[in-house]
This record gives sequence, structure tokens and C-alpha cells, in this order.
Amino acid sequence: MPLVESPKYRMPKKNSPAQASTNPKDYVIATMGSHSALQILKGARDEGMRNLVICKKGKERPYKSFPVADEMILLDDWKDWNDQLEEELKRRNAIVIPHGSYVAYLGPERVKHLTSMYYGTKEILEWESNRVMERTWLEKAELLLPRVFEKPEDIDRPVIVKFHGAGGGFGYFVVKSPEQFYEVKNRKYPDDNDFVIQEYIVGVPMYIHYFYSPITGELEIMGMDKRYESNADSIGRIRAEDQLASNIHTSYTIVGNMPVVIRESMLPELFEMGERVVKTSRSLGAGKGLFGPFCLETIVTRKLQVFVFEISARIVAGTNPYIEGSPYTALKYDVPMSTGRRIARDIKQAISEGRLPEVLG
Ligand code: AMP
Ligand code: AMP
Repeated sequence: MPLVESPKYRMPKKNSPAQASTNPKDYVIATMGSHSALQILKGARDEGMRNLVICKKGKERPYKSFPVADEMILLDDWKDWNDQLEEELKRRNAIVIPHGSYVAYLGPERVKHLTSMYYGTKEILEWESNRVMERTWLEKAELLLPRVFEKPEDIDRPVIVKFHGAGGGFGYFVVKSPEQFYEVKNRKYPDDNDFVIQEYIVGVPMYIHYFYSPITGELEIMGMDKRYESNADSIGRIRAEDQLASNIHTSYTIVGNMPVVIRESMLPELFEMGERVVKTSRSLGAGKGLFGPFCLETIVTRKLQVFVFEISARIVAGTNPYIEGSPYTALKYDVPMSTGRRIARDIKQAISEGRLPEVLG
């Protein structure tokens, strides 16, 4: 395994027994180089903790150009995230922070069986990624959910069709009848039968970033974003008749994120929604339940109904605009508090109080 170590740090020469240490400096915050790694690395550093980024060769430039990583491990390929690497992480007392690229690059099974220290509840990953389980959880939390259509023949209104493997909204399509569904499906995805048909909610997407700390017992709203999706966010730039003439199918490939704030009068409802999600997660039989950062992905209608169409039980990339903190964290903290930094602070506090196992999954 090729290894690049920053000369700034001398690594412990052998296995240190620091797992039980209550000194945050005996640990390293580690993450995979993609998604929200810059924020996580900077957050660790801002909290005075050491950090480490694991990169795929050829993708390391941002982590060198933006000087936020103390050390870097380079892999030829993500499949080299193997037992040997896990041992190396353990030797360094690394605490791995999961984000959206883990499951995308390592696969759910590999992530489930990572043996190094891992911030968050692994069992919750299944509840998040299995659509039926996710819906059960969100229904239990009494959230408003878009209707799901069991079969294409039932489609009687605009629906959004989502393929399971779809990365970042790629390949979703919107139709309003069974005929339209089969027309698009058979033409573009003849062999892919793992999809969900959801009522298309007309409104504005709002992604609500939460943080629940088992150490402080408090639920926080960290920020919100809206996504910048191709081509959904560009279709309005041409006339309706040109849209029809060019037969464009709307797609939702995520390209970036934009900051947004919500009407202040809606904040009480958002806090309650987040609290119910955390509370019900404890009754799912999924380890310690949900903690750390998570996101409710919502559409808010003109009647101000908040429909939740998905939950992400980890840091979302929509927090990236807030590396210097969000309008909400500015109200609560006297330092710029990103979600990445909030994670590091949770870990630091857990270590100092001898409660690290409470935040490891
Ligand atoms: P990437 O490392 O950019 O290939 O992304 C890995 C996974 O995270 C993919 O499933 C993406 O859809 C998701 N992802 C990456 N960036 C974002 C973003 N800004 N917002 C939402 N999801 C994202
Ligand atoms: P997702 O990959 O599930 O986060 O969804 C990608 C995008 O599809 C979202 O940002 C929304 O713009 C859109 N979307 C997803 N579900 C719905 C829905 N039920 N109604 C309307 N738009 C949706």
C-alpha cells in the first residue's frame, strides 16, 4: 500500500494503547477523499485534532491544493480499501467519518464490515438504503411522505421514478400515466427493474441538515441547502414550446448545492420532525439509533406542507457551502461551526469524557 506521510507529523511507531486514552491528540480523524472530505478534515483541524485522508490515485489534487490534510494515504483503487488498510487505520487510532462516497465506492457490504473505529451507527445504513425500511421508519416518525405507487398501472398523476442504483439523481424521470412510464422505461431502462414510483410533489426542495449529539443529548439544526440539478434547474431557461419541441426529459443529476434559509415560523416544525426521527430510530433495533449528522430531504408545497422524500443518515454534501458555518450555527456558536467541525467536536468531547464508545458504531 503506497503511503504518503506529511513530514509535519511523527506517527506512533507501534500499536499505541490509546483507544482508552482520554486525550484527543491520541486519535486521528480519517475520511475518504471525496464528497465532504475537505470540510471534515478542516473541521478536525479546527478542533485541534489530527486528520488523515484516504485518496484514490489521481483524485488527490484538492487535498494537496487546499491545505487541510495532515496526512494522506493513496490507494491505486478503492478495492484496495482492504484488511491491510483497516489494520493501518487501527494502528493509527483513526476514527473514520463516513460520507456519501463510502457506500458509492466501497459498497454497502464492505462498509458494514469495516473494522476500524467508525463514527455513527452502522446498522442505520440498512434502514436508510432499503426503501421499505426507510419508509417504515419515517412513517413511525409521523412525517408527511409522498405517496408510493405499487405498480406502474396505478399511476394517475405526475410521479417521479427513481432507480435504486441511481447515483445522485441520475436516471430519474417524471411521467404522469402508465403509458408514459412504459414508453420511457422500455426505451431507456429495459433491464432495470429496481425502482420506486413516488408521487411528484410540486413545491421547492429543502434539504434540512441536523445534528444530534448523544454526548450533549441535543438536536441542532445546522443549516439547509437546495440542490443544483442538471437538467431540472436549467429547463426553465428555455421557452415551454422549445422544451416540447426538443423533447427534453427532466433529470436530476446533482452537480452542486446552494445555501438557503427557511421561513423562521417553520423552524419549530423542523425541530420536531428531526426529534421524532431520532427518537423513533431507537425503536428500530438498529444499534444505538441515529446520531451525528443527518438530513431530511423535503419538498415544501405552496400550502407549506413539508413532504419528506428521503433521509440521509450521515453528513450530506449540502453542508459544504457552510465550511465557515451557516446562519444557524452563527447563532449558536462563537466560532465558525461546520457540520464537519461539529462531528470533530462531538468526538473530542466523547474522548475527553471517556465516552468514545457512545459515538462509535
Ligand atoms: P462522488 O464522490 O461525487 O462521486 O459522490 C459519491 C456519492 O455522493 C454519489 O452517490 C453522489 O450522488 C453523492 N453526492 C456527491 N456530491 C453530492 C452533493 N453535492 N449532493 C448530494 N449528493 C452528492
Ligand atoms: P433524491 O436522489 O431522492 O435525493 O432526489 C433527487 C431530486 O429529485 C430531488 O432533489 C428533487 O428535486 C427530486 N425529487 C425527489 N423526490 C421527489 C418527489 N417525491 N417529488 C418531487 N421531486 C422529487
